[in-house]
Amino acid sequence: AWSRVCEKFKAEFGVHVYSSWLEQMGYRGLDGSTVELTAPTKFHRDYIQQHYAPRLKDFFVAEDPRVKALSIRLGTAAARPANDEDVLKVTRIQAPTIIEPRAQDTGSALDPRYSFDSFVVGKSNELAYAAAKRIAESDDVPFNPLFLHGGVGLGKTHLMHAIAHEVKRLKPRKKVVYISAEKFMFEFIAALRYKDTHEFKQKYRNVDLLMIDDVQFIANKDSTQEEFFHTFNALVDSRRQVIITADRSPTDLQGIEDRIISRLGWGLVADIHPTDYELRLGILQSKAEQTTGVDVPADVLEFLARRITSNVRELEGALNRVVAYATLVGRPITMDMTRDVLQDLIRANDRKLTIDEIQRAVADYYNIRLADLLSERRSRNIARPRQIAMFLAKQLTSRSLPEIGRRFGGRDHTTVMHAVRKIEDLRRDDSHLEDDITRLLRLLEG
Ligand code: ADP
Ligand code: MG
Repeated sequence: AWSRVCEKFKAEFGVHVYSSWLEQMGYRGLDGSTVELTAPTKFHRDYIQQHYAPRLKDFFVAEDPRVKALSIRLGTAAARPANDEDVLKVTRIQAPTIIEPRAQDTGSALDPRYSFDSFVVGKSNELAYAAAKRIAESDDVPFNPLFLHGGVGLGKTHLMHAIAHEVKRLKPRKKVVYISAEKFMFEFIAALRYKDTHEFKQKYRNVDLLMIDDVQFIANKDSTQEEFFHTFNALVDSRRQVIITADRSPTDLQGIEDRIISRLGWGLVADIHPTDYELRLGILQSKAEQTTGVDVPADVLEFLARRITSNVRELEGALNRVVAYATLVGRPITMDMTRDVLQDLIRANDRKLTIDEIQRAVADYYNIRLADLLSERRSRNIARPRQIAMFLAKQLTSRSLPEIGRRFGGRDHTTVMHAVRKIEDLRRDDSHLEDDITRLLRLLEG
C-alpha cells in the first residue's frame, strides 16, 4: 500500500517534491483506523502536516477505506521498496511464478519540469546544452552517440528529459525511450529470468532515440553490458540516435570493456563542468522566479550562489528549504533566517576562508598596508576598507562579531556590527562600492 501511495504522490506532486519530502518518511503500518508514519525531523513533520497530509490521507483511503487519520511521529524511514526495481527484487523472492515481466514498460518516468526552457546555460554546460538541443531539433542523427558526462547534480538527467520532451513535441511519431542504466539492468535480468529476452531485445531495438542515464552503473555487470552493447550497436548501425550519460568520461569508465568504451567515444563527447558563480546565481534567479508566494531577496540569492558550490541539486535544495521554512512560519525571507535554516549545508560547503586571507585581500585591493588596516587610524582611505574587510569577514566566515573584532586589532563587537550595517547600507546606492565588493568576493572565492 505504501509504495502505491508513494507512486500516486510522485505522480501528483512530481519526483522532486517526492524526494524532498516523502522519500525520507517511513511507513509503520495501520493501527486501527490510523496510518502511522514517521518523519526524520520536527520541521519535516510539520511541513508534511501542513502541506500534504490531506492528499496523503486520500491516497491511503483509496488503498484502504478503513483509514480515518494519519499520525506522524519522529523516526527514521524503515527499509522499504522505493521504486520499481526494488519491487521487482522483492516480489521475485516472494512469489516468483506469478509476476509478469514488465515488458510494456517504456523506460523511466520523465519529470515535466526538466525542459530546455528551465535549463540555465553558462560556460560550463554550453556545449552539452547545444548538443542536446541539436539532437532534439534535428531530423537526422547529428552525432552518434552523444556521450554526456559530468559530476553529480550538474544537469545531465535534466538535459536528457528536456530532449525527450522536445522530441515528443516536435516529432510525436518517434519512439523515444529514456531509462536509467540501473533500470535497464533490472529489466534485462527480469527478462533473462522469464526467458523473455526476445521481447526485451525487440523493445529496445525498435526505438528511434534511446537514452541511457548513468551508464557507469553497468560497469562490471557483464551480461547487462553485453546486452547493452548489442542494443547500442544495433541502434547506431541503423542510424537511430543514442544518448548516454555517465559521471565520468568514457576513458575513465572502469569495468567496462574496451571495445564498448571505444565505441562510446565515436560520436560527440561533451562534458559538463562544475558551475561558476554566475551560473549558480542565474539558476537561483530562475528558480526564485518560479516560486510563488514568497520573495527571495537578492542578497540571499547571492549568498547561496557563493556558499553552496557543490552542485546544482544542493543549490536548489537549499533554496527550497529556505522558501519552505519562510512559508511555514509565515515570515519574509531574510539573511539571518537563511543562515539559520542552512547551517549544516553551509558548513559542509565551507571553503574555510580565514579572516587573515580576507584582510590581506582587502589590503592588497586598496593598496594599503595590512598593519594600517588593523591599526587605530581613522582616515577614510583606511577606515572604509577596514569596514569592508569586517563586512566580508562576517559574510564569508562563520566567526562571531566579537571574534572578528578581536582579529581587527582588538575592536569591540559593536564596531564590527556597525561596519557590517554601514556597508550593507552603502552598497545599495554606491555602485563603486558595490563593484569593489563584487570583485573582492570573486578574488576571495577563486
Ligand atoms: P545529474 O543528472 O547530472 O546528476 P540532474 O540533471 O539531476 O543532475 O540535476 C540536478 C538538479 O539540478 C535538477 O533539479 C536540475 O533541474 C538542476 N539543474 C542542474 N543544472 C541546471 C541548469 N543549468 N539550469 C537549471 N537547473 C539545473
Ligand atoms: Mg542524473
